[in-house]
Amino acid sequence: MGKVLIIGAGGVGTVVAHKMAEEPEIFSEIMLASRTKSKCDAIAARIGCKNLTTAQVNADIVPELVRLIRSFQPDLVVNVALPYQDLTIMDACLETGVSYLDTANYEPLDEAKFEYSWQWAYKEKFEKAGLTAILGCGFDPGVSGIYTAYAAKHHFDEIHYLDIVDCNAGNHGKAFATNFNPEINIREVTQKGKYWENGEWIITEPHEIHQPLTYPRIGEKESYLIFHEELESLVINFPTIKRARFWMTFGQEYLTHLRVIQNIGMAGIKPINYEGKEIVPIQFLKAVLPKPEELGANYTGETSIGCRIRGVKGGKEKTYYVYNNCSHEAAYAETGTQAISYTTGVPAMIGAMMYLEGKWEKPGVFNVEEFDPDPFMKALNSYGLPWYELVNVDLEFE
Ligand code: NDP
Repeated sequence: MGKVLIIGAGGVGTVVAHKMAEEPEIFSEIMLASRTKSKCDAIAARIGCKNLTTAQVNADIVPELVRLIRSFQPDLVVNVALPYQDLTIMDACLETGVSYLDTANYEPLDEAKFEYSWQWAYKEKFEKAGLTAILGCGFDPGVSGIYTAYAAKHHFDEIHYLDIVDCNAGNHGKAFATNFNPEINIREVTQKGKYWENGEWIITEPHEIHQPLTYPRIGEKESYLIFHEELESLVINFPTIKRARFWMTFGQEYLTHLRVIQNIGMAGIKPINYEGKEIVPIQFLKAVLPKPEELGANYTGETSIGCRIRGVKGGKEKTYYVYNNCSHEAAYAETGTQAISYTTGVPAMIGAMMYLEGKWEKPGVFNVEEFDPDPFMKALNSYGLPWYELVNVDLEFE
């Protein structure tokens, strides 16, 4: 039994609140707080659970967070606001003596830079305070790291090659929309590509490397090598990895829109002056794009995200593919959001449950693969994200 404060009332926050509200034995009191309180109230009204209250907070301001945390006194803060708020929320947790969980690594507002250094720098502070910080507990990052830890524990003596494959074969019927926060999404996918090989990072031009990959129940989809934050911690936590890459599918229509958006300067993150007012192009773009949480109603098809791993077990080469497919329609029917929010929110809820049940509780700052994957993997099957394994199959990579 524990009290949890969720910060952020977007698509992911909606799913976290839904899933927690269904488990009152574990989450005895839930508070959903965000910058716009009316969004929290609308979610709470839809869920209709008496243990769920709402509040307003600007998570950029540490004293505001501290006041809210002191008044509610949660056991854990679940941060599903934006990556920009990670450090202020971690600071507030340290000041109030509360543990922390998030789903995306910190990014400075004025620089699209994905690395864990800022949050790892809090390790000693969390250790000294006897508090736990669980980083990147969505699907990817999140389940991708847990799948890898599970493979290392049960299937391999050494993992040598890791490919995380993320396919969204859904159709929302819009010419262009992003499946989670547009600003964060566009910053992520327009970055240079980067992967780990033989002890160093190899940088590529954006979307330079691509190949068709075949996804279970979906078929062949063109998949693009991009950098994704979990690669950074996985190559450290599994040092036998010789090569680690991340692949994501994009449709031609999406890539064409993205190219135009970049070419005309709408993906810019530096403020410009427009008629005497400073605006950030990508933030303005976000305001006119479809809202991710509103895509769900007509979304068909499914996602397929997994890890394809090659390594050795008992002196023999082995391949292993572990994955989940998630239907947009089923996610919407259950929570009113599409599969991208669902596949992020469910792991965040399970991570919170792992902490409250004492299964993932230790002082310091950790990426998810540093915890025991077994109870988490079991919970994925019970809470809507069942996983499947294929052993010694063709992984399609040379
Ligand atoms: P949304 O944009 O839909 O929601 C973000 C929410 O955070 C909004 O309610 C927003 O409030 C709130 N917020 C923003 N700034 C502040 C602030 N300063 N103080 C308080 N609240 C604030 O995003 P998503 O739900 O799609 O994504 C949430 C997080 O999940 C993101 O960090 C994203 O990167 C991460 N994510 C992780 C994935 C994974 O697999 N690991 C996959 C997908 C997303 P307002 O409504 O007022 O703007």
